[in-house]
Amino acid sequence: MTEITTTTVVRSVPVVEELSADYCVVGAGIAGFAAAITLADQGRSVVLVDAQPQIGGQCVNSLIGLFCGVYGTAPDYEMLTRTVFEDLFRDLDGTGALSKRYGETLGIQYDEVAVGRWMERELDRRGVTVVLGSAVDAVQGDDGWVERIELVSRYGRVRVSARGFVDASGDASLSWLAGLPCAEPTGPIYGSQQFRLAGVVEEHVPDRTVVAEHLRRVGDRYGVVRREGIPFVFPGSGTAVINMTHVATPLSTVGTGKAQHEGRDQADRVARFLADTFPDAFGDARIVDYGLLGRRQTRWIRAEHTLLDEEVIAGVRFDDAVARTAWPIELHDRPDRHRWEVFESGHLHYVPLRSLIPRGSRNVIAAGRCIDAQPAALSSVRVMGPCAAMGAGAAHALDLADGGSVADIDVSVLRDRVAQNVG
Ligand SMILES: Cc1cc2nc3c(=O)[nH]c(=O)nc-3n(C[C@H](O)[C@H](O)[C@H](O)COP(=O)(O)OP(=O)(O)OC[C@H]3O[C@@H](n4cnc5c(N)ncnc54)[C@H](O)[C@@H]3O)c2cc1C
Repeated sequence: MTEITTTTVVRSVPVVEELSADYCVVGAGIAGFAAAITLADQGRSVVLVDAQPQIGGQCVNSLIGLFCGVYGTAPDYEMLTRTVFEDLFRDLDGTGALSKRYGETLGIQYDEVAVGRWMERELDRRGVTVVLGSAVDAVQGDDGWVERIELVSRYGRVRVSARGFVDASGDASLSWLAGLPCAEPTGPIYGSQQFRLAGVVEEHVPDRTVVAEHLRRVGDRYGVVRREGIPFVFPGSGTAVINMTHVATPLSTVGTGKAQHEGRDQADRVARFLADTFPDAFGDARIVDYGLLGRRQTRWIRAEHTLLDEEVIAGVRFDDAVARTAWPIELHDRPDRHRWEVFESGHLHYVPLRSLIPRGSRNVIAAGRCIDAQPAALSSVRVMGPCAAMGAGAAHALDLADGGSVADIDVSVLRDRVAQNVG
């Protein structure tokens, strides 16, 4: 049948793979991806690690499907973050993987399969070493310096040594394991189980006000927790991503597994509600994908500066700003709905580098949804536009520190480097 036979093997010594690079990025979501390609573009060697078996974080794996916060308010819709998005939108233009969604700001709907493959190619092209399916479980270093991290995968352990680290883990995992102070909300900030329906009749899909009105009347009957939401129709595809669930996302291993199932149960109930209530649109629809449970705000770093709600509302422009956005406050702190506070036309708010540097650390910078901010402020800067800008800002700061302490970099040089994302 085959020339292949077998050989008997017994485990002897534990397998440990050793890697070293100029910089290591923990978390391959949109923030970590932006950090990794920015460092590589500066000629640095980079190891990018993620606990998931494929890159992209929530952007690719949680059926988010819409880039928010990249553009400013109507009517100008200025492009605010160029890192990642300029190239991505150019490369995927005309492929059918992107479509525009106009509202208070301009959002770009995307096909996560195409975006995930684009990200993989961009990393490979730059020679970034990607370590997947490997969770950081130990951090070594001294006196505010992280020197090495250890990861565990199904195949054994991996050690990565580097002169600087980006914590783009979403849950501040690296900072937490390094023993640095972190913040957690005192009540749940809900995540959502996104799911995709196929067989949707686009022209009959109701808008969000009609959905909410029916949910108020019959939501109890279906056991629907979140009484609002939007069917995000992908034009011409007969599919829609639904965001009408709210699930607490605990920071525990067993709790996370339970939450994933709770999310899917909620999704099933929402699908039944949609099919019964809007049969012309959803009567023949079926769930074809659930995605990984989406986590919004779980645990984040404590930095020298906590981005305050009033700084976001007033649009304070910081000397060391690395990101900006016009995205509304979008805080999911109630099971049935979320707070949604839209800014006036022309409004912008900013994220300072000081909110990315964990207190007591010298060569770690956070980026993405785990930077330091008050809960409402964080809810408006954790969308993917500013997350990518923060990744780029963290990368430039580490590059400028060149193995020294990030607190000592010349901020005027950083300003030039991040001008394309800050103006
Ligand atoms: C349901 C939902 C809907 C949303 N809708 C939108 C939207 O429409 N538009 C928009 O722009 N934004 C949206 N957001 C927000 C946005 O998707 C996220 O805030 C953003 O993607 C976060 O990116 P990130 O890179 O900071 O983190 P993540 O994408 O969370 O990536 C972090 C990565 O770190 C890895 N990691 C964590 N701990 C470890 C460890 N110990 N070891 C190794 N790896 C680790 C994780 O596996 C993960 O892949 C939504 C969020 C949710 C939850």
